[in-house]
Amino acid sequence: MNIFEESKKFIPGGVNSPVRAFGSVGGEPVIIKKGEGSKIYDIDGKEYIDYVCSWGPLILGHSDYRVVKKLKEVIENGTSFGAPTELELELAKLVVDYVPSIEMVRMVNSGTEAVMSAIRLARAYTNRKKIIKFEGCYHGHSDSLLVKAGSGALTFNQPSSPGVPEEFAKLTLIADYNDIESVKKLFMENKGEIACVIIEPVAGNMGVVLPKDGFLKELEELCKNEGALLIFDEIITGFRLSKGGAQEYFGINPDLTTLGKIIGGGLPVGAYGGKKEIMEMVSPVGPVYQAGTLSGNPLAMAAGIETLKILGEPGFYDNLRAKANKLWEGFGENLKRLNLKFAFNSIESMACMFFKDGQVESFKDAVQSDTKLFAEFFHKMLDKGVNLAPSQFEAMFVSMAHSDEDLEKTIKIHFETLKEMFG
Ligand code: PMP
Repeated sequence: MNIFEESKKFIPGGVNSPVRAFGSVGGEPVIIKKGEGSKIYDIDGKEYIDYVCSWGPLILGHSDYRVVKKLKEVIENGTSFGAPTELELELAKLVVDYVPSIEMVRMVNSGTEAVMSAIRLARAYTNRKKIIKFEGCYHGHSDSLLVKAGSGALTFNQPSSPGVPEEFAKLTLIADYNDIESVKKLFMENKGEIACVIIEPVAGNMGVVLPKDGFLKELEELCKNEGALLIFDEIITGFRLSKGGAQEYFGINPDLTTLGKIIGGGLPVGAYGGKKEIMEMVSPVGPVYQAGTLSGNPLAMAAGIETLKILGEPGFYDNLRAKANKLWEGFGENLKRLNLKFAFNSIESMACMFFKDGQVESFKDAVQSDTKLFAEFFHKMLDKGVNLAPSQFEAMFVSMAHSDEDLEKTIKIHFETLKEMFG
């Protein structure tokens, strides 16, 4: 039986999230059987070094033994209660301890939910309706955010979706990433109407695009002056750039932060948090309603707690950075040796090579990439046993499980692949 063909009969496109279907790179997706450390294995037993890491959550690699052990312990006591547990408190305390601007946090089940709830809260807090987001940034698929979005929406050339009423979309204003003037203009044209600005502090859904020096600081000041909240969507960057995320890394103090991916250690978790004064508007303390049957469930909390504890160990990020830098430097050398001028953006353990010469500093730069070349590159890497995200507009991630041997092998395969294509 061809599992993918069979799945298409029962699941739209055969997948539960669009980019997995390989739509933009062609061919059939690999059907995964298991993951262990830095590797994944397909149903035919073929091994791949994995740099998708479940799209970011698996900073420790697949089925880390400590996380698995903790999950086994917790599952013995039940999977969900819909009632308070000590585990929720433990994870909340870790988040508040690690993330500088978060004084209180609410757990949800996905990044989409986290962002949707944070936006509602920002609107309630400011008593304003409009929001500003950046073209090419992705914040999940809730109605207000599926306007000029990145990630799969961009990959499939559907940055905005049918089914989102025009009346909703009108409240979402679009600025250009790394262009503070574009934000100022929107504030000027919509005086006193902007509830919040939401941003991926490092854009990770149009490939990886780094904020220019001073851009985030200017944004922080602008929001403060205009009485709008600054929301950092740290669903990728949280616990990835540093223990305290991008806000710690760049020294910014957002009003609200959304988290996902790593916070759940590979189980479904999202969270939003921020200043106490704002978070206390959330139900049942305040009037802003938000709820969830499975929110804070013990398995997801346990995986998150175990993961975050390990990240807090001395030297964790130094080790991870050393691994990542080894790979990024290797890729850089390869490009030089082959005299290729492709943009390569990296920060800590996330990176993206764009099939576009020169630099990528904006959405407009990113979309100039040659996605056909990317598709060829992707398939050649995959055939040789390196799993990357099946889209030009995604990040690759290094985990603690990647060994020197994995990294060296990947650098070699990267060179061979580029040589075949351009040598
Ligand atoms: N925000 C960002 C920055 C993301 O990268 C993602 C998912 N890739 C989301 C929000 C949505 O999270 P989820 O897929 O868990 O709903």
